[in-house]
Amino acid sequence: MIPYGRQDILPGDIDAVVEVLKSDFLTQGPAVPAFEADIANLAQSSYAVAVNSATSALHIAYLALGLGPGDLLWTSPITFVATSNAALYCGADVDFVDIEKDTFGMCPSALQSKLEEAAAAGRLPKIVAPVHLCGQSCDMARIRELGDEYGFSIVEDASHAVGAKYKQSPVGSCEFSDIAVFSFHPVKIITTGEGGMATTNDEALYRSMSDLRSHGITRDKARLSISDPGGWYYEQLGLGFNYRMTDIQAALGRSQAARLDGYVEKRNELAARYNEGLSDLPILVPSLNPDCYSSFHLYVIRIPESSGTTRRAVYDGLRERDVGVNVHYIPVHHHPYYRDLGFDTDRLANSEEYYRQAISIPLYPGLSYSDQDYILNCIEELMA
Ligand SMILES: *Cc1c(COP(=O)(O)O)cnc(C)c1O
Repeated sequence: MIPYGRQDILPGDIDAVVEVLKSDFLTQGPAVPAFEADIANLAQSSYAVAVNSATSALHIAYLALGLGPGDLLWTSPITFVATSNAALYCGADVDFVDIEKDTFGMCPSALQSKLEEAAAAGRLPKIVAPVHLCGQSCDMARIRELGDEYGFSIVEDASHAVGAKYKQSPVGSCEFSDIAVFSFHPVKIITTGEGGMATTNDEALYRSMSDLRSHGITRDKARLSISDPGGWYYEQLGLGFNYRMTDIQAALGRSQAARLDGYVEKRNELAARYNEGLSDLPILVPSLNPDCYSSFHLYVIRIPESSGTTRRAVYDGLRERDVGVNVHYIPVHHHPYYRDLGFDTDRLANSEEYYRQAISIPLYPGLSYSDQDYILNCIEELMA
């Protein structure tokens, strides 16, 4: 089976991990801050906080921005459940904003009309979390404008968009947001096995997320409640978690991050080959926003109802032919846990349509042209 995504591990990655295993620190050593500096440098952000998953990064990002019981977070329903689950961890409520029909990002017009109604009802969101689906940034300039007007904070779920650009700036630079979050799960652009990172330009948010990652504990003398307490002393200032990344993971991440640009170029090249190969078929291929350089975490084709076949038939047919296609994502509000919370699905028409049509076909740097051509032939056969 050709997988839909796959990590790329080179001998240098293995050497970097082995080096840590032979060193003094498996965790809380020098590799984690070095990896944070690498990512801050790539993303052009002032700060980066490494954690054990993007889910953890979302959780501490929301907490650092003060999300709690009685508050509301809005995201789009076409995302991995983690984006909204992390808000529920904070005791907050979640609601969903529809996506744009062709670029799959949070729709600024849908956001605006939902905000107008929420303002009238006195129930505005504290945080809006746009998801850069497939690796293409949402329309952040417009979302930021609305944030300024309605007073919400913005956390970018950039799990798919490591190495992507928006208006010439790297995603993660937080030019239009408070915090951006990356994932380093093996199917994502670069990997640490499990792992995530939150970037920000705000020192207070940085400090808060750093504390939350490790039990709310600090050793920073300037922040302790007593002076000259002795070298052993630390204080727990808030309630945090153990969300730490290990040095083993960080070393792998550093080694991978050095190849980030090449990975994203290769993904774009393979995506262009798919566009070309699919151009004569009654299939919708990804639309590119001219403001964006996508990292192409996913290549999603859509099988419209007018095509004469169904998404189900194409999905099953590809699986039967050993092509490991997938669907990203089942809308969050379709899951029984969320369904029971009750959402107004009439306003999520683009998301519903996307979900009826979408299939993620294999895309990763190690995908060979011959495998890609095989996949194209299979799709052509199934659409005939
Ligand atoms: C992968 C992913 C996450 C969660 O990432 P983990 O590192 O597995 O916790 C969150 N949001 C989106 C959009 C993702 O794709």
